[in-house]
Amino acid sequence: MRGRLSVIGFGPGSFEHMTQRAKEAIQESDVVIGYNTYVDLVRGLLNDQQIVRTGMTEEVSRAQEAVRQAEAGKKVAVISSGDAGVYGMAGLVYEVLMEKGWRRGEGVEVDIIPGISAINSTASLLGAPVMHDACTISLSDHLTPWEIIEKRIEAAGAADFVIALYNPRSGKRTRQIVETQRILLKYRSPQTPVGIVKSAYRDREHIVLTTLADMLEHDIGMLTTVVIGNSSTVVYDGLMITPRGYQRKYTLGEETQALKPHERLRPEAEPWALAQEEPHGAAVSAEAEAMVAAAPAAAEVVAAVSEPRRPGPLELALEALSLALGTRGAAEPAVPAAGGGVFRYEEVLEFAVRPGLAEKRLTAAQLAALAEAAGERGSVEYTPHHQLVVRLRTDDKETVLSRLRGQGLMLEPVGDVVQLKACDFCNLEKAESVPYAEKLQAQLGGLKVPKELKIGFNGCGMACYGAVKEDIGIVYRREKFDLFLGGKTVGRTAHAGQPVAEGIPPEELADILNRIVRRYAEEGHPNERFHKYFARVKELEQYRHQDAPVLVSDPAVCGD
Ligand code: SAH
Repeated sequence: MRGRLSVIGFGPGSFEHMTQRAKEAIQESDVVIGYNTYVDLVRGLLNDQQIVRTGMTEEVSRAQEAVRQAEAGKKVAVISSGDAGVYGMAGLVYEVLMEKGWRRGEGVEVDIIPGISAINSTASLLGAPVMHDACTISLSDHLTPWEIIEKRIEAAGAADFVIALYNPRSGKRTRQIVETQRILLKYRSPQTPVGIVKSAYRDREHIVLTTLADMLEHDIGMLTTVVIGNSSTVVYDGLMITPRGYQRKYTLGEETQALKPHERLRPEAEPWALAQEEPHGAAVSAEAEAMVAAAPAAAEVVAAVSEPRRPGPLELALEALSLALGTRGAAEPAVPAAGGGVFRYEEVLEFAVRPGLAEKRLTAAQLAALAEAAGERGSVEYTPHHQLVVRLRTDDKETVLSRLRGQGLMLEPVGDVVQLKACDFCNLEKAESVPYAEKLQAQLGGLKVPKELKIGFNGCGMACYGAVKEDIGIVYRREKFDLFLGGKTVGRTAHAGQPVAEGIPPEELADILNRIVRRYAEEGHPNERFHKYFARVKELEQYRHQDAPVLVSDPAVCGD
């Protein structure tokens, strides 16, 4: 008689979380082989099976014994906690079989029965921390060199995976979890939510919600799984929740996100969503839309997108919520918050800052205000464009922005907009042209254009701030302006703008510039830089484009 080897993942430990197939396979077996504690966990299922109990470290002999018994014609159940294919017995059983030259069609029959792995069981107790791309890392260096584990932690940290740490710590192995925290703190905020679950769905279940900074202050052992959130994981009412997607950035001057909340859940915007399986032509159902309208502050609790006859996952979730809360159709928030208000996601806010058009110095108070605004989790980046770019997360962007403005800081949008880059007018000693710069800033600063457009504005013929090297250059000289158009600011073939006019009367400058820039804003192709646009249209405000000299290029030393 052909023997059978079932490698069974029995899930976290409770009877209810074991699959029907796992239960059957255990009951159908003649022999049950497993680590002592596991045999005790499934004892309620056993009738007269032979039991082979072994200690924790005897995995290889357990696998060999299982194969031996199956070869003798028995039905053998090898039991593993969680899923047998995740740091479990499945691979080991196959290794033993491979060594013996076993073939699928011959020899013992092998059946791997899946179970709920710790990443899933512990996640369910914490809330919904996994949700998005996640990985498991075992901190046990018993069979894996620590250098490899370290690399994986680095990679997972850098790539913003949600991480479930298995085998995080034992009596002897205590350094690994400390090192892991140190590595992850290089990539994640100390405030990153961390869930520590001991003995999920077992008698001594214990759940702790903490942060990356404080995680080591809690009991972590071999029966624990540690779940580390990604950069968008939040804590809500004692639950750890990772949103399905990343929040989009907001910049100044944009009323709404690039994707509006309800669009975030469109199949094309979230290709991994279940809704994608549905027929196209999805529309927000009227009911879901009404719920969103009734809960404007819960900005991210949004309408599902689906065919009216086939609701999508979020629509179903909203429907379930509304039934559970008894708020169906009522003008109440879709999600009640812990503290009486309504839960609000933090927004990622991005903007540029400078002390002024001509002013290049930041005061201590301004720096302090910036540091406070950015906080631990935000960043302040200095750029080649007389601007710092600030990225921060807040649920109250108006307050953040008005505090910075209150410090006299000039805030601007980033991206494909017009930016005026003025010089410092020799510390404002040559300040006659400043009002013209300010007028241009007021009219054009922040205007959306096909591609970022820098206008250099220099207050004397020295042009030491390099106005002629910008997309558009303006130089004040002898009470008039010189104009340069179509600088190519980057690349190997970079060149200055073409001098197209000298002696423009100051009162005409703003009008000319307005017409040029607004025409580019309207006619430029998406992503078309200004110099390319100028070359394409050949003429702007009667200024004719001239081709830049062609480079004589040397043949490369190593041939073409
Ligand atoms: N095959 C198992 C993992 C075995 S490695 C699975 O798929 O879940 C052993 C590690 O799994 C433990 O150190 C712990 O990190 C985790 N683990 C297994 N069962 C658990 C439970 N009930 N609660 C918390 N963690 C558990």
